[in-house]
Amino acid sequence: MELVRIESLTKNYGNLTALDNVSFEIKRGEIVGYLGPNGSGKTTTLQAITDLISIDEGNVYINQKNIASNKEKNISAVFDANGLYPRLTVQENLEFFTRLKGVGKKKGNELIDYFLSEFQLESRRNSIVKSLSKGMQRKLAIARALLFKPELLLLDEPFDGIDIESRDKIIKLIKKISKESQIAVFLTSHVMADIEELADKIIIINGGRIIKNDLRDNLLREPKIQCVHVRLAKAYEEKYLSEILAKFIDPQYFSVFPNEIIIKLNEEDADLDIPGLLFENNIKFVEIYNNKQNLTETYLNYIK
Ligand code: ADP
Ligand code: MG
Repeated sequence: MELVRIESLTKNYGNLTALDNVSFEIKRGEIVGYLGPNGSGKTTTLQAITDLISIDEGNVYINQKNIASNKEKNISAVFDANGLYPRLTVQENLEFFTRLKGVGKKKGNELIDYFLSEFQLESRRNSIVKSLSKGMQRKLAIARALLFKPELLLLDEPFDGIDIESRDKIIKLIKKISKESQIAVFLTSHVMADIEELADKIIIINGGRIIKNDLRDNLLREPKIQCVHVRLAKAYEEKYLSEILAKFIDPQYFSVFPNEIIIKLNEEDADLDIPGLLFENNIKFVEIYNNKQNLTETYLNYIK
C-alpha cells in the first residue's frame, strides 16, 4: 500500500507553472529518485510534500490523510541548507533534537551513539559543525533526519557539491537504513548516475510535468538506441550548434551541450556523414564514438 499519494498537484508562481498536474505514489520502504534538469520543479514538489508551500490545485496524502490535517505524519527532510547549527558541535546538534522530542538523556545518547557510529562521525563528535567538510555536514544532516525513524525521508540534491567518497558512503547508508527500517526515501537529483545507483523507482520531471514514472529496472531494460557522441574540442554556444545541426538532422534526433553533441541514429539519417558535416561547418571535435543507450540517453530522450 502506498505511503504517499500525490494527486494532480499544480503550483503557479505568477505566470510560471512550476508544477503542472503532478501525480505519483511512494510505497513504504521504497527509494524513489526524482530526476530532472534545473528548474524542472523538483524542490517545489518536495516543499509541497512537507507542506512548506501552498499549492494551487491537487492534494498530498500521507497514510491516506491529507498532509494539512495529518498531525501524526512522521517525515524528515534535508534541504540544501542542511538546517544544522554551525556553531554547535556534532553532539550538541543531535542533542538539540533529542531534547526537542522529549527523549530522556540516556535514550537520546543511545540514539546519537548509534547514528554517529553508522555514519562514521564518532571521531568528530566534539567538532564544531562549521569546521566539518561539506560531505560530513551532509552526513550529519541525514543522520539527524533519521534519528526518530521517519516513515519518509526527503532529500533535496543530497550529493550536490560533495566528493565522490562521501557520496558513495551516503548512498550505502541510505540503502541500508531504508531496507532495515522500511523508510521510504524520496530524493531529487539532476544527475542520472546518482538516481540510477540508488533508486528502486525513477520519476522524471521536466517543465513541471512528469514525463516518466517506472521501476528503475524497467527503464534500464528499455530497447537500446544507438547514439553517436561527438566530443567537441572547445565549448560552443548551444544555440549555434543547434542551428547548424538542424539544417541536416531533424531536431528530435539530437541534443547539444557546450562540449558535446549526441545524435540518435535513425533510418532517415543512416547515410549522414557526421565528421564531414562537422568539418564543413568548422566545428572542431576531438572524438566521435558510438554508444548504446544507458539511462543517461534515456533521460536525454525524455527531457527533449
Ligand atoms: P528544481 O528544484 O527542479 O531546480 P524548482 O522546483 O526550484 O526547480 O523550481 C521550479 C520553477 O519554479 C523554476 O522555474 C523556478 O524558477 C520557479 N520558482 C521556484 N520557487 C519560486 C518562488 N519562490 N518564486 C518564483 N518562482 C519560483
Ligand atoms: Mg531544486
